[in-house]
Formats: sequence, structure tokens, C-alpha cells
Amino acid sequence: MHQINQVYINGQFVTPYGEELFDLFNPATAQRIGQVRLADERDASDAISAAKAAFPAFSRTTKAKRVDHLRRMHAAIESIEAELTAAIIEEYGAPVSRASWMAKHAASVLGDAAAVLENYDFTRQIGIARVTMQPLGVAGLITPWNSNAGFICGKLAAALAAGCTAVIKPSEMSAIQTSIVTRALHEAGLPPGVFNIVTGRGETVGAVLSTHPDIAKVSFTGSTSVGKQILRAGAETLKRITLELGGKSPVLILDDADLKHAIPMALQAGFMNSGQACIAGTRILVPDHRLAEVEALLVEEVAKVHAGDPNDPNTSVGPMVSLKQWQRVQRYIQVGMEEGAHLLAGGPGLPEGVNAGWFVRPTVFSRVTNQMTIAREEIFGPVLSIITYTSEAEALAIANDTPYGLQAYILSSNPQRAHVLAAQVDAGRVLINTLAHEPRAPFGGFKQSGIGREYGTFGLEAFLEPKSVLS
Ligand code: NAD
Repeated sequence: MHQINQVYINGQFVTPYGEELFDLFNPATAQRIGQVRLADERDASDAISAAKAAFPAFSRTTKAKRVDHLRRMHAAIESIEAELTAAIIEEYGAPVSRASWMAKHAASVLGDAAAVLENYDFTRQIGIARVTMQPLGVAGLITPWNSNAGFICGKLAAALAAGCTAVIKPSEMSAIQTSIVTRALHEAGLPPGVFNIVTGRGETVGAVLSTHPDIAKVSFTGSTSVGKQILRAGAETLKRITLELGGKSPVLILDDADLKHAIPMALQAGFMNSGQACIAGTRILVPDHRLAEVEALLVEEVAKVHAGDPNDPNTSVGPMVSLKQWQRVQRYIQVGMEEGAHLLAGGPGLPEGVNAGWFVRPTVFSRVTNQMTIAREEIFGPVLSIITYTSEAEALAIANDTPYGLQAYILSSNPQRAHVLAAQVDAGRVLINTLAHEPRAPFGGFKQSGIGREYGTFGLEAFLEPKSVLS
């Protein structure tokens, strides 16, 4: 049993004032695997005080010094890759190939930020003004459970690169990953107070971060509804706020696409991270006259998708993170059937051969309209919708007819045509014939998928404020 009893404040592991014990589960077995003692409001305030005290000195450190810090943090996280991978599988249920990518990603974001910082000029001359990019102050960083270690390291990397100090509130459901990451980051030997990590509930620790006058910036990844609450709460002190929220990403399969390649890629885009991905391609838009072909290929391809034991290298869809999340996904499958969508693959209940854990059958609905609930709301599970269109203009209209705008995919054998379409899709990222990630390019959403950008220079500048000195 894992017993996590401490939080990290001012460079030390301390027992929190908070006394609530929160159960941790293995989602693949639904067994309890440990407990975390949660921080409360007083712990959050102590962490903010420590970060505030550390800010004046840290904000004046040289670029070279901060690059050095980031490189040591990178090495520290790299050194725990195996342990972190195991924790991601045990506590979150990510299939082993995904979990190992996630652990590597947690390290690489620190190296990426070091490289961005090395090449970034904090001052520039604009006319008679000397413009300096200045760190904002203490940053509150709030992460979700679907890539907790990666978000802790990514947000922290950008904040520290800018010269901000930080208080991190990780997801309470990811405490084992957090404790492994915290130990490693501690080993990197940064000055006390520069970063503080307090696992607690959103309504307590998260709420303190979004209202406290000494927090200058909040960077949040999570649901759109909580993002809106944070934005409202932060308005009182005019906090700078970055929100990375939900999505309902379209996968536009054009009529010239080679379906033998496009269909497996669409499924990968939809089922990535077991469907618990804000960037999952959940609305597959196909030309009406190719529907029969698409349906036949999809049935074939979904049959090859293995949902089950995350330790099995053949598994690509692991369990949902919690019983609550499993019930939510089951409810959406039910709603899809009730609203008249055609169940092409999967359906309610557990996958064949699985009798424990929070597993969902990889599910594809066909003949979905863009007005159905399953096409409008983020399900956050392996449940996809096929929607037909009759013209490219209609495909584009459907793609953009959503409150979200995080990511879109275009699959076509004509890249030029795909680029013309990409320019008209309302999404922060458009992937043409690829599922690749570009860590130097900005990432974030249009519309209700968020505000602001992470990664690369844009991500660094989200923690900076320009100051013009005229002479
Ligand atoms: P969530 O919004 O419930 O929680 C996210 C974090 O916010 C957690 O740490 C939680 O404790 C905290 N929180 C909850 N209430 C809070 C409050 N009132 N004030 C401050 N903090 C609070 O989301 P979740 O269930 O953890 O994650 C799933 C959601 O996150 C999905 O909707 C998904 O789309 C979204 N998500 C988005 C991205 C992205 O990059 N855009 C990435 C991953 C997940």
C-alpha cells in the first residue's frame, strides 16, 4: 500500500495541516492501492508565502543559471523514468507503451524549455523604447489526472524558465506519480521555495491559488467548467490566466483519402490515451458516398484494438481512471443509442474477457448527426462518432460547429488541398496526415477550449509581462 503523507513546501517535505485521507486506486483492478493525506488552505498559503519569498532572488537569476536548473531537473526526471512508468500504469492505467511515452515526455519538456530559454531574448529595442520581458511573479499551476507528471513538469519548466516561482496543485488522483516526481525534482537542488507541490482538493487548495492576491498567474489544465470558475475567481485580482481545457476534435477524412491509411490513423487519434485525451479526434467526418467503405474498414480495424491489461504490450486502450469516469462514459454510450446513432462497434459494459476494472469497450457510433449529444459533449473515453458530409464546405461547417477548438485532423492524399482547409478550421492545432507532436510550436485552444498557449516561446511568454522603458 502506498502511503503519501507529506507535501513539499520551501524545499522540505512536511506534514500538511490538512488531515483528509484520500483513497488511491488501480483502475485496472478497481482495488485500493494507497492513500494520500491532502493539503488544505493553510498549506496552500504556506506554499504561496515560500514562493513569494523566493521570487525576488530567483527572478533576478541569469538565463544561464536557469538553463542549468532546467537541465538538472531534466536529468533528475530522466533518472526515474522506469519508476514513473510503473506508477503511471498502476495509478492511471495507461497502456505500457503510452505510459513509457508519458514518463519520457515529463523529462523532455524540461529539456525543451531549457532550449527555448537559451535562445530567447528578454530585451529588444522598439523605436525609442527598451522593452524587457519581466517574470510575472508567483505562478499557481493546476494539473489534471490524465497526464499529471507531464503537466507538472511542463508548466513548471515554463514558469521557471521565465523567472517565476511556483506553487503546483497536482490532481489528487495522481498522488503516487506526484510523489515520485517531487522527490526527483528535489534532488535537482533548486533554492528552497522556488517550487512547492501541494496535493489537495480543487475546491480548497485550487481555490486558494485562483483567489490569493500573491498569485500573479494561474496555468490550469482540466475541464472547461472548472476553467471558467478559475477565470471568474481570478478576475478579482486580475490574474494572468492560461487555460487548457476540453475538446471535441474533428477528423476530416477527405474524399481523396486512402482509407486503408486514414481509418487506422483516425482510430489512433480517437483512442489515444484510452480516449482520455483533450486532443482526441472524436468526430470522424467522412464523405457520404464512402460511408459503406468506411464502416466496413472501421469494423475490421476496431476488432484489432485491444482493451485490457495495461501491462500487456498489445493493449492500446486501458481502463478509465475512476469509477465515476467509467460511469460517465457508459452513460454517453447509452445516450448515443437512445438518440438513434448506429452502434457500429463496442457498446455498453466491459470488453470481452475482462471482468474487473474500469474498462470500456472501444466504441464507434455511425450515422451520427453533429447535433447529437455524443457529437457535442466531450466524453473523455474511447467513444467515437462518424458523421457524414456531402461537400467540402459542409465538412468544414460541421468541423467548426462546436464550442471547442483545440485540435483538428485532416487526412487527404492532396496536402495542398488539406492546407487550404486547415487555414479555415477553428482550432489551435491542425494535424495533416500525422499524429506527431511539435514541442516548439504553441499548443492551446480556440473558443471554449481555452485561453493562451503552452510550449515553446509562446508558452514561455505566458509567464512574462513586457515592460517598456523610453529614453
Ligand atoms: P477537472 O477540471 O475536474 O480537474 C483538473 C484540476 O483542477 C484538478 O487538479 C482538480 O483538483 C482541480 N480543480 C477542481 N476544481 C477546482 C476549482 N474550483 N478551483 C481550482 N482547481 C480546481 O478535470 P479532470 O477531471 O481532472 O480532467 C479531465 C478534464 O480535463 C477533461 O475535460 C479534459 O478535456 C481536460 N483536459 C484538458 C487538457 C488540455 O490540455 N486542454 C489536457 C488534459 C485534460
